[in-house]
Amino acid sequence: MLDRTPSDLRRDRDQLARFARRPIGAGRIETSLLRGHPVVRMKVTIVGSGDAFATGGRAHTCIRVDTGATSAIVDFGASSIYAWKALGLEFDRIDTVVVSHLHGDHFGGLPFLLLDCQFGERRSKPLALVGPPGLRQRLDAAFDTLFPGVRKLGWSFDWQVEEILPRTAYERNGIVVETFPVVHECQGLATGVRIGDGSEVFAFSGDTTWTDTLYDLAADADLFLVECFSGDRPVPSHMDWPTLRDRLAGFSARRIVVTHMSKSALARRAEMEKAGLGLAHDGLCIEL
Ligand SMILES: [Zn+2]
Ligand SMILES: [Zn+2]
Repeated sequence: MLDRTPSDLRRDRDQLARFARRPIGAGRIETSLLRGHPVVRMKVTIVGSGDAFATGGRAHTCIRVDTGATSAIVDFGASSIYAWKALGLEFDRIDTVVVSHLHGDHFGGLPFLLLDCQFGERRSKPLALVGPPGLRQRLDAAFDTLFPGVRKLGWSFDWQVEEILPRTAYERNGIVVETFPVVHECQGLATGVRIGDGSEVFAFSGDTTWTDTLYDLAADADLFLVECFSGDRPVPSHMDWPTLRDRLAGFSARRIVVTHMSKSALARRAEMEKAGLGLAHDGLCIEL
């Protein structure tokens, strides 16, 4: 995961510079680890870029967002604890975890995250878990299945679950979080997530088939991360490349990066790059 060669890194930089609508300076894209780096502009790290089946050896969805004042996580799938540690990351600067929807590849790692904060990092400061209605109940169920009894132990830090409604701006720990309803069958509300720090905006589609809501979600965003599960034909509940390609002109986001790719989508990467899109991989770090 970390063994990217200098030519890989050069290619990342070239790729991002190509699809940026505004010029990117040589030092603006950082692929090194976050720890110890002063954060001024918003910085987005793709910790996991895989689909639910970890196609291509890619970890489940997890994105780290760093601003000058705080850090947040968007989604923490079942394999995210491994991907997080493999990048040498820690949770100490994280104040908020936002969950797009309640599928295991997006929220299934939360018990591991909370237990690592308790027993690994011995956390003392609060942590907000923000997500769609049902998050608390499903998190409790996941805890009771994976680590029975542990949920009732005394916690060394205060963690709160906050279930939020779409299209309402919530200010949390120095960032504004807004969710948008998308079209994805998960027996609950599936959302895209938009995070702003007053300067830059990061938007993420979550899992969804095409919906015009994505134009609102990504409006004028500095970075829009969009799932594209299928490379060829339409599939239920997920984006396919031909549909996304045909609608690209409608986006006002400055940069668009594709993630959550199945085998058929990974096979179309050259085409996506040619269309001006960036390609996510585990460990990709983008300074906005
Ligand atoms: Zn997914
Ligand atoms: Zn899903």
